[in-house]
Amino acid sequence: MTTETPLIVGAGPTGLAAALFLRERGILARIIDSADKPTTQSKALGVNPRTLDLLESTGVTDRMLEIGRMARGMNLWRPDRKLATIGLGDADHRFPFMLVLSQMESERLLTEALTERGITIERGIGLTDIATADGGITATLSNGETLTPSVVLGADGAHSTVRKSLGRDFPGSAYPEPWYLYDARLQTTLDDEFINAFLLDDGVLLFIRIKDNLWRIVSNVVDPPHSIATGHNDRFSTMGL
Ligand SMILES: Cc1cc2nc3c(=O)[nH]c(=O)nc-3n(C[C@H](O)[C@H](O)[C@H](O)COP(=O)(O)OP(=O)(O)OC[C@H]3O[C@@H](n4cnc5c(N)ncnc54)[C@H](O)[C@@H]3O)c2cc1C
Repeated sequence: MTTETPLIVGAGPTGLAAALFLRERGILARIIDSADKPTTQSKALGVNPRTLDLLESTGVTDRMLEIGRMARGMNLWRPDRKLATIGLGDADHRFPFMLVLSQMESERLLTEALTERGITIERGIGLTDIATADGGITATLSNGETLTPSVVLGADGAHSTVRKSLGRDFPGSAYPEPWYLYDARLQTTLDDEFINAFLLDDGVLLFIRIKDNLWRIVSNVVDPPHSIATGHNDRFSTMGL
């Protein structure tokens, strides 16, 4: 089969937003994802002001603002005292905060906006190979289809088949130590309108409230649950860690 329709590979935030922006400009793209279902994980949960700007005309920003939580800045702590508060309130922007919204919800809202515009994500279909020759593109899909799309947008994440098929490098570096990430239910008196960063002797413990009593904890200390449970201070006690 031959098609001139642009092909978006991957229906994460990048692919979904790209499909939406193209649709707003009158271009109907085909969007595929190898996963049968959308993610159920919170993953990237910080929506930045510029993203809210960009999505505003699509109506998605309003919906994000309805269900997301505003993080108005960051408190920096040592175990026994607060060192500083960095507020975003004075930032010269209409949205002077970071919106906390789980990636699952962001993807759901973007998907709804696409559905309203007549675009359906084709799930369970992966790109298996892509090749370029004579100025054209040939894309092979897991369902046996071969396409010749006008453009392919590789939004297929960190292990991108698009990138690998085209022999593109992905240079970068990694921290030597492991970083831990938990979504956990906490009872705490921490200020939940701010991200709270505890600067400990052996690393950092970050607390971001997602919703209700669910918090994202990110840390590079050796044993974060132990650090929290033993309490570098009495500001938090854990539930469900
Ligand atoms: C546990 C976890 C926690 C995270 N926490 C944070 C965080 O707190 N903050 C932050 O900024 N980032 C976080 N991230 C990273 C964040 O999730 C990614 O940066 C973000 O998802 C990238 O979006 P994307 O749309 O580019 O790619 P992805 O969300 O990875 O989407 C890629 C999509 O492509 C699909 N796909 C892959 N290969 C193919 C193929 N061959 N054919 C068709 N479809 C394909 C996948 O199924 C997937 O749906 C986290 C990631 C994980 C795993």
